[in-house]
Amino acid sequence: MRTGEILDNYGVQVTYLNPSIAPSLGRKSKIGGYESFLIEGIDLCHSCGSKRTAIIEIFKQEHPECYFPSGCDYLLVKTCYASTCDFDDDIVFYIGYGNSSNLNLSNQMNEVVLPVAFFEPQMAKEIPLTNSHNAELDSLIVSYGRSEFEELMHSHFGMIGTKLNGEPFAFQEQETPMCTCGERKDHFLQISSYEPNMHVGDKRKYWEWEPSLGLYIGGVGNYHYYICRTCGEGTIEAKWDSI
Ligand SMILES: [Zn+2]
Ligand SMILES: [Zn+2]
Repeated sequence: MRTGEILDNYGVQVTYLNPSIAPSLGRKSKIGGYESFLIEGIDLCHSCGSKRTAIIEIFKQEHPECYFPSGCDYLLVKTCYASTCDFDDDIVFYIGYGNSSNLNLSNQMNEVVLPVAFFEPQMAKEIPLTNSHNAELDSLIVSYGRSEFEELMHSHFGMIGTKLNGEPFAFQEQETPMCTCGERKDHFLQISSYEPNMHVGDKRKYWEWEPSLGLYIGGVGNYHYYICRTCGEGTIEAKWDSI
């Protein structure tokens, strides 16, 4: 059984968002810049009162494969990057959803704004390796031998880079969060400081990386959102790690 067949049988769907500073070609979902809509519950920093910085916004119209609660078609993530705010100690990104037909346009006044990068999305599949608890996949790894299997699949494990669904990439191994109903939560959004598509051919080691778009997550890191789709929006849980 070779790479393509293993991906078909065991892979999970992922969308690499591939943020790019090239012109947007009419796309709306993006990292950075000003958010399109105001989501009041996540707009201001509870600690310093500044308007929070937009990290990412995603429109369901462009990315129905992302998780949206019923009735919502707009996802926004914000954090506080004000220099006067003590954000380094505790990286907290806030996620909000809304319906773009009821939301007010944002009053674009942020102290800190990230550069705008629209997406050049690419669908792929990733192999769940950590926390997989998939007996068939485990037996395949045993029959190949772990090192041969890893060599065969090396570019198909959870990759760094902002993406929808797929397997989490983390510098330190993380447990998949569990829902109180007993189900494992699904990974549905990864936000990364380092975007591999922006450094093609760059052979730097990971400890020499720097944030590609000025997006600090404890330095260079990854922010992960999980959900139990059965139990819904209230089960959304975030985890992050950094180098
Ligand atoms: Zn603040
Ligand atoms: Zn649940």
